[in-house]
Amino acid sequence: MNKHQSQGNLVNILIVDDEPNNLRLLSDLLKKQGYKVRAVLSGEMALSAAKSNPPDLILLDIMMPDMDGYQVCHQLKNNSETCQIPVIFVSAKDQGFDKVKAFAVGGVDYITKPFQVEEVFARMECHLKLNHLQMKLEEQNYQLQSEICQRNAAEKALQEQNELLRQEIKRRQNTELALEKANQELARSNADLEQFAGIASHDLRSPLATINGYAQLLQMCGKEQLDDKCNDFVEQILKLCNRTNLLIGELLSYARLNQAEEPFQLLPGDRLIQQALENLTTEIYKNQAQITYDELPAIIGTESQFVQLFQNLIANAIKYRREESPKIHLSAVLQDSQYLFSIQDNGIGIDEQYSEHIFEIFKRLHTQDYPGTGIGLATCRKIVERHGGSIWIKSVPGQGSTFYFTLPTQQKLVEQQMIEAIGHPH
Ligand code: ADP
Repeated sequence: MNKHQSQGNLVNILIVDDEPNNLRLLSDLLKKQGYKVRAVLSGEMALSAAKSNPPDLILLDIMMPDMDGYQVCHQLKNNSETCQIPVIFVSAKDQGFDKVKAFAVGGVDYITKPFQVEEVFARMECHLKLNHLQMKLEEQNYQLQSEICQRNAAEKALQEQNELLRQEIKRRQNTELALEKANQELARSNADLEQFAGIASHDLRSPLATINGYAQLLQMCGKEQLDDKCNDFVEQILKLCNRTNLLIGELLSYARLNQAEEPFQLLPGDRLIQQALENLTTEIYKNQAQITYDELPAIIGTESQFVQLFQNLIANAIKYRREESPKIHLSAVLQDSQYLFSIQDNGIGIDEQYSEHIFEIFKRLHTQDYPGTGIGLATCRKIVERHGGSIWIKSVPGQGSTFYFTLPTQQKLVEQQMIEAIGHPH
């Protein structure tokens, strides 16, 4: 870049003097020096030239007719488009008073005529440089200001986010507290329910046994005295006694699941299945059920409860059969550090909307053609959850169902016990 260039263009100088000879002389000198020069003869012309194309610097004569240099400078400084242009007064007036006035109206320098050319150039260069630096500073200032604004806005946004986060944490804490309270209440009401079911079933058993005894006596001793219709009634009473006894038995064992005194032990999966199948021999034979199973892992828990779990699920798979003979397959895979068991059948299946419903106590879908109490799956769920797993069903009506349940591996149980031991050293 040439030494007299601003932003790639030649430095633009405006000279104002009402004396054409002076104007020409200065103009030629500056052009030779490499400046781009515009020369005007009056204050009016100077103002319009400065407005239409603001120069980088103005050399301004003071004594001019109509409008003197002070007035020109005053107007330039009062206009936002021209106020930044440095103005150097060039005048024959050399009184201190004149110079002071020149600075007062906004001039940056004052050169007295006759002048030394080198002095004019040196002063011009100095003010051009100063002005350039000042503009740069202003630009930087502006950038700084806008950066500060951006940062302030970002800080405000962050504070708002923080506030939202604080509110969210508070909300979650409240929800957690409410949940904990609800859980405690649920656990208490569950315990109450278990206790009630236990006592009620227990207390119902002895009057039921008495009714059953009298009905049997009636059947044995009164057979001859009673007509066929009455004998039928007695038969019905005995059947109902049996069914109620079964219901009480299941309810009692459901209520006592959490109070099992049997210790947890390592249980080979095959042994559990074989025991369950043995208990179901009659049903399997009657229904010509084909039951297959893969190699099953050993699990840790209460033996009688796991036999019960497999027995309930297999018994249902046989009971809720279709026309064709039941085909049932059991398997287990290791998945996400837990075992995933599955019991698949080719029975009647259920509609997906009842998938949760059937695990609730006394909830039955097929009440008409299939005998049952509605306690079996509730028992299964309680057993699985008691051993740290969960249970669910996937089913297609008319095609069959698969019951899934998870159980922690031995390693996982050991890890949990260690964490508990560390967490509760006493
Ligand atoms: P119960 O068999 O005594 O009715 P459960 O609690 O064992 O009670 O089962 C609840 C309900 O779930 C059953 O009444 C039946 O409608 C449905 N169900 C259970 N197992 C199956 C199955 N393998 N296939 C189709 N439906 C089933």
